[in-house]
Amino acid sequence: MTLFAVTRLPREILFGKGQRHALPAIAARHGRHAFICTDERFAATSQFAEILAALKAASIDTLVHDRTLPDVPRDSVAVCVAQAKDFKPDMVIGIGGGSCLDMAKCAALLLSRGGRLQDYYGEFKVPGPILPVIAVPTTAGTGSEVTPVAVISDSERTLKVGISSPYLIAAVALCDPELTMTCPPSLTAITGADALTHAIEAFTAMRREADSALPQQHVFVGKSALTDHFALLAIRLLGRSLEKAFRDGADEVARADVMMGALAAGCAFGTAGTAAAHAVQYPVGALTHTPHGLGVATMLPYVMNYNLPAATAEIAQVGAALGLARADGTAEQVARATIDEVARLFGSIGITPTLAELGLPEDKVDWTAEQALGIDRLIKNNPRRFDIAGMRRLVKAAYDGDMAASAF
Ligand code: NAD
Repeated sequence: MTLFAVTRLPREILFGKGQRHALPAIAARHGRHAFICTDERFAATSQFAEILAALKAASIDTLVHDRTLPDVPRDSVAVCVAQAKDFKPDMVIGIGGGSCLDMAKCAALLLSRGGRLQDYYGEFKVPGPILPVIAVPTTAGTGSEVTPVAVISDSERTLKVGISSPYLIAAVALCDPELTMTCPPSLTAITGADALTHAIEAFTAMRREADSALPQQHVFVGKSALTDHFALLAIRLLGRSLEKAFRDGADEVARADVMMGALAAGCAFGTAGTAAAHAVQYPVGALTHTPHGLGVATMLPYVMNYNLPAATAEIAQVGAALGLARADGTAEQVARATIDEVARLFGSIGITPTLAELGLPEDKVDWTAEQALGIDRLIKNNPRRFDIAGMRRLVKAAYDGDMAASAF
């Protein structure tokens, strides 16, 4: 196989303690009118008041939408966009968790291109450039600050929907780990586990032959040397610091590691894509209304176990990046120890270990499997093939918490 790689990223990625203070200078390069998408929590903080004052001092007019809701309900985007129509913004600044960043991307899209959000569901439906987005995350998890994706919930559809387009990539990702210091342990755990799942699914995704058409038709194109680089960085940082940040939210070094881990994981999966753990989370999330990060992390060890025969070497490399002492065993033994370590790490930060405990009704196991198998772009990206019987067995194994049953 010859080298083949694709990567799509923001023009500028800034990371470090206090980087939020650069926002006025960055915004001034994009114009004088900034529409800010955030939520009620962040809008009430002194940090937000300082940001607004600094933008004002730099002669930047702001209009604030502070009603972003978790998981971005479709109709809330229309309300947000209506608020900004007369303001004629030059840029959209998203500040908050992944939901606020996705809201900012959707607002920039509709303000630039008009139409309805549902016109853009799927891949490559955005016809051209949109207003520049400056993404300022306050959670360390989704990687939305660098990805070409916005995820929303649509009450007319059972599963969440995505808009995937290179035009959705933020112009600037501004990552300041100080903004994550207020995350309570459960949010740190769920978002951090989301990031680790992104990194591991991106690293174990399908690797494809060089193909000039593929990146023009698909946003997620599988793993490559470039995405591997980011995925392994993410796994190393999250492996060494996620538990620390969960136990002591005031640990600045751990907070910075976890936020850089989430950023690097976003750089990896934004092109490589994710796979079966994400496919199963879509129907599970729809039925249980549990956070995205919790659902994907609950599934991950079972999916890794299912994938083991097809991705033994990659899973063993994940173990090395997680800092597992080099076992003298075979690649398969190291890979098995890696899966145990991921399950242990998730257990130690309170990730729900089974789909039953996540609240999935037992009589929905088969429906979940059917829905997951239908998410073609993620299933095609999984290193081991699925048929419906295999997917049912995997979902049932994760429902029962029967790790051995996920290896077949
Ligand atoms: P979130 O943005 O939904 O926020 C969850 C809660 O955490 C909110 O109540 C919020 O106010 C609070 N919060 C945020 N920052 C905080 C802080 N610093 N301190 C205290 N509380 C804080 O959570 P999220 O996990 O960041 O984002 C989840 C959303 O992102 C989902 O809709 C998911 O589907 C989506 N997502 C998007 C991508 C992408 O690439 N676009 C990738 C993965 C997930």
